[in-house]
Amino acid sequence: MMPHTLFISDLHLSADQPQITKLFLSFLRYEAPHCESLYILGDLFEYWLGDDAVAPEHQIVLTALHQLAEQGTRLYVMHGNRDFLMGHYFETETGCQLINDPTLIDLYGTPTLLMHGDTLCSDDKEYLQFRNIVRHPQWQQDFLDKSIDERTSIANHYRSESRTQSSKKPEKIMDVNDATVTKIMAQHHTTQLIHGHTHRPAIHKNQTEQQESCRIVLGDWPTQGSFLRCDQQGCQLKVWSEA
Ligand code: MN
Repeated sequence: MMPHTLFISDLHLSADQPQITKLFLSFLRYEAPHCESLYILGDLFEYWLGDDAVAPEHQIVLTALHQLAEQGTRLYVMHGNRDFLMGHYFETETGCQLINDPTLIDLYGTPTLLMHGDTLCSDDKEYLQFRNIVRHPQWQQDFLDKSIDERTSIANHYRSESRTQSSKKPEKIMDVNDATVTKIMAQHHTTQLIHGHTHRPAIHKNQTEQQESCRIVLGDWPTQGSFLRCDQQGCQLKVWSEA
C-alpha cells in the first residue's frame, strides 16, 4: 500500500452517542493501522472537562489510540472548540502528540496548513469573544480548580447556550469567512488548507491568475465516518462505515 496520511475531525464522542464511539473504534482497528500518520483536527470529544475527569466511555478510546501508536502510526491531535482542555495526561495515555492550531506540515511535498476551523468563522463575533475568554490560561486554571460536578454543569450550560445561539444565527455566519481564509493562507505562504468544524465536507479548489489553492473541509461523524486520505498523488474524502 502506498504511504499515506489520514485526517479526521469532529467526531464529538460522547456517552449520548455510543454508536459513534463504536464506529471510531472500528476505524482505528481496521483503517488507521495502514497509514503513516493520523491527524485528528479537533472536537474528537463532545467535551473534555480536564485530564482528571475522563469519562469511562472515553477511556476505551484512549486505550485504542495508544495501541495504534504502539503499532507505529504517528498520532497528532489538535484542540477543537469543545475539547481544548486536553492536556499532558491525554498525550501520555494515548501516545498522541498535541499540535497547535494552526500547524504547517509538509504533506508529500505540498506545504499544508492544518486548523480546527472555528477561528475561520470570523463573522461570528460573539463566538470569537467567548473563545478569547475560555482560551485564557487563567480562566482554564480557575475552571480546572472547580469540582468535576461544577465543571459538568458549566459545560452543559455552555452547550445548551451554543445550541440556542447557533439555531438563531444565519447559515452564512456559521461558515468560514473567505477573506480570513485567504489572509491566513498568505501569512503561512501556503496554497493548501485542511480544517474541520463546519461539518461541510468538501474540497474547494480556487484558481486565480497567480496560483491554484485548495481548501479541504473534513466532515463530522453523524451516521457514518468521514475521513481524508492523502498520498503522493493527492487527497480524497472518504466514508467509513462499520467493518
Ligand atoms: Mn468545532
